[in-house]
Amino acid sequence: MIPTHIEHLGIAVNNLDEAINYYEDVLGLKCYSIEEVQDQKVRTAFFKVGETKIELLESTTPDGPIGKFIEKRGQGIHHIAFAVNDINTSLKTVKEKGVRLIDEEPRPGAESLDIAFLHPKSTFGVLTEFCSKKAN
Ligand code: ZN
Repeated sequence: MIPTHIEHLGIAVNNLDEAINYYEDVLGLKCYSIEEVQDQKVRTAFFKVGETKIELLESTTPDGPIGKFIEKRGQGIHHIAFAVNDINTSLKTVKEKGVRLIDEEPRPGAESLDIAFLHPKSTFGVLTEFCSKKAN
């Protein structure tokens, strides 16, 4: 279940368009996808940096998870996502090792990936996501 690479970093922002301007105009990256994930009440924008992506997250409602995060802690890095080959096995493995899970079962994330979050209380304060390509 060893992660193959850092799939993406999730970054919470107040305004997706302003943040996209920074990543494009200042850093010279190219936004290749904007997608709303209703399940998580966010609009996302994706950039590739080598094998890793940057996922910008703008809340579509103040009471969504990203809205609450920004209210409490401000804009900034929200989570780290590891790519794993088999998300179900990975979740089972870390659970057996005592890690608290936010998602006991994978759910649909952006980019048609299956995703699941581990609780930051079990991961030294870093909200951690596993993601893998859908099995079928
Ligand atoms: Zn993510």
